[in-house]
Amino acid sequence: MSNLHSVSVTPASQRVLITGGAGFLGSHLCERLLAQGHEVLCVDNFVTGRLSNIQHLASNPKFRLVRQDIVLPVVAEVDAIYNLACPASPPHYQADPIQTMKTNVLGALNLLELARQRGIRIFQASTSEVYGDPHVHPQPESYWGNVNPFGPRSCYDEGKRCAETLFFDFHKQHDVEIKIARIFNTYGPRMRPDDGRVVSNFIVQALQNEDITIYGNGSQTRSFCFVDDLIDGFLKLMASDRSLTSPVNLGNPVEFTVRELAEQVIDLTGSRSKLVLRPLPIDDPQQRRPDISLATRELGWTPKVALTDGLKQTIQYFDGLLTQEARELAETA
Ligand code: NAD
Ligand code: UDP
Repeated sequence: MSNLHSVSVTPASQRVLITGGAGFLGSHLCERLLAQGHEVLCVDNFVTGRLSNIQHLASNPKFRLVRQDIVLPVVAEVDAIYNLACPASPPHYQADPIQTMKTNVLGALNLLELARQRGIRIFQASTSEVYGDPHVHPQPESYWGNVNPFGPRSCYDEGKRCAETLFFDFHKQHDVEIKIARIFNTYGPRMRPDDGRVVSNFIVQALQNEDITIYGNGSQTRSFCFVDDLIDGFLKLMASDRSLTSPVNLGNPVEFTVRELAEQVIDLTGSRSKLVLRPLPIDDPQQRRPDISLATRELGWTPKVALTDGLKQTIQYFDGLLTQEARELAETA
């Protein structure tokens, strides 16, 4: 099945397709491109995306929303594509691993085919998970990774690796203009409270004075990038010279243990929560930090927002959301 969507033409602007546009990162990207005067066609199947993430854009005549799964062919009259569709949180992408693999592989194929037919540039939201549980630290783009092809994370890790290969081959075989961002852990407003990732879990738990669930002993590390910084990186990468076709790491190189993150969240919320230890998920990477020298050199990009400042904004968002949910519950009781 395929759909034909035409978006009215405004000469000064590009018509941009954003798959996964109702998700956490996608909604910020929609907003930023609209603010720059572009037209945005958001395609989403709402598996993890939410209407509330994009509701404020609905009155903008340059914004269109189509509910569609990218596993099916997408036909759209657009000038550029950002492919962000795929659940990013481990519990969500592991809930239906076959669909996750199809999204990553068939979705990428469908969008690359659209890019080939229209002769347009296409951006892929790849991931630091292509490095798996890395033996090289920090991770440069040249590292091939240490990925289990046969485990609970494989549908995501191997799916994203396969998508990168498809991008490479469409460029090589059909001269499609490709841009691949390897995104490291990113957080900020519009994550789902039930997203399951560490930043949203810890903040929601802290705001409700519930136990903070540390998986393993909390010594594993991640490097957390605030969403605004990441979107700056997306835009710079997409605008880069067509010769830049290799994957580019985008993330904040300041590394924290999961325990340090929990302690910061408790400090910033003034929570009475206690830290509790839970089993470490299978194949959970022990350490992760991007080497961003390529992004700095080629794009002039470095993240600006310190973890404390980004956490403050994210805490404020979740505080507002939980207060609103509590009010709505009281009204219906
Ligand atoms: P998210 O789960 O909030 O957003 C994903 C969006 O894609 C959702 O709106 C979802 O409904 C949509 N979607 C999923 N499968 C789809 C399908 N088959 N067809 C159409 N829409 C579909 O996740 P996010 O954090 O916004 O991540 C966006 C992209 O960035 C993902 O591709 C993810 O793999 C990648 N990424 C994110 C991070 C991060 O830290 N946020 C890190 C690495 C990579
Ligand atoms: N984590 C944790 N408690 C939680 C959620 C996650 O300790 O409630 C840990 C998880 O085991 C991992 C790290 O935090 O080591 C980051 O997890 P997340 O799911 O956010 O991202 P990813 O593992 O994909 O980097």
